[in-house]
Amino acid sequence: MQQRYDLHSHSKASDGTLSPAELVCRARAAGITHFALTDHDTLSGIAEAQGQAQALGLGFTSGVEISVSWNKRTLHLLGLGVDANHPGLLQGLDGLLAFRVWRAEEIARRLKRDAGIADALAGAAALAQGDLIGRTHFAQFLVQAGRAKGVREVFKHFLVNGKPGHVPGDWASLEQAIGWIRAAGGQAVLAHPARYSLTRNKLRGLLGQFQELGGAGLEVVSGSHSLDDCQTMAHHARDFALLASAGSDYHGPESPWLELGRLPPLPSICRPIWQDW
Ligand code: AMP
Ligand code: MN
Ligand code: MN
Ligand code: MN
Repeated sequence: MQQRYDLHSHSKASDGTLSPAELVCRARAAGITHFALTDHDTLSGIAEAQGQAQALGLGFTSGVEISVSWNKRTLHLLGLGVDANHPGLLQGLDGLLAFRVWRAEEIARRLKRDAGIADALAGAAALAQGDLIGRTHFAQFLVQAGRAKGVREVFKHFLVNGKPGHVPGDWASLEQAIGWIRAAGGQAVLAHPARYSLTRNKLRGLLGQFQELGGAGLEVVSGSHSLDDCQTMAHHARDFALLASAGSDYHGPESPWLELGRLPPLPSICRPIWQDW
């Protein structure tokens, strides 16, 4: 049977809207044969997703999407195949969750001070159904509060660099995140590389560092990549001897521009990250 991989997704354990079990059911219904749950900075949804995948006979990889600060930017690293109970990884993620607690308070303070928006922390917290608050929850609250038409508009006007609710990240270093993932038996994959607005030279600098530090893969096919991006990233992956991954970055049915099971195939020059699974 033709295998169909989707190795990047979010449940309500982070900023998605489906439960881990609902997400796995939807993946199966969309024709995916191998699925990974990769919530932001938490592994708390893995046990439920894994149980559901087993019940449905769906291939499953436990994962996490780790927030990284690199050269004053935020990058996302997927840890695929990690042991979800590894103490070192869990401890590292705990540090990121602690930063998220402080950041959420700071976002709310700034929204009040610079945009006159009250009670954003309580509003975002009420929408967060897992153990972390993300910017997505603030965005959903601001839409509810009538401050913008949709989540994307809120990001543009309130939550990105130069806007009232922006707080710079203080996440893991590239070296730390790769170290945690490898210690937990996983493969580190640089997520949605076309999304960082890096010049070709800066991106290749990053890929060189990433590979030297023990990074294993590049997310060549992503729900947020154009077909051109996929081709470009396939060549970068080959040049840096990185394996290629594919993932939708699905967050739930409220974001209809992105559906499960609609990814293009990996370009043929790629070596898939799942080649030795
Ligand atoms: P955080 O990790 O809490 O800073 O939030 C990052 C998440 O916010 C991403 O994973 C996306 O789900 C969401 N996000 C970031 N930028 C945008 C945007 N421009 N429009 C919609 N969602 C976004
Ligand atoms: Mn997200
Ligand atoms: Mn991401
Ligand atoms: Mn993601």
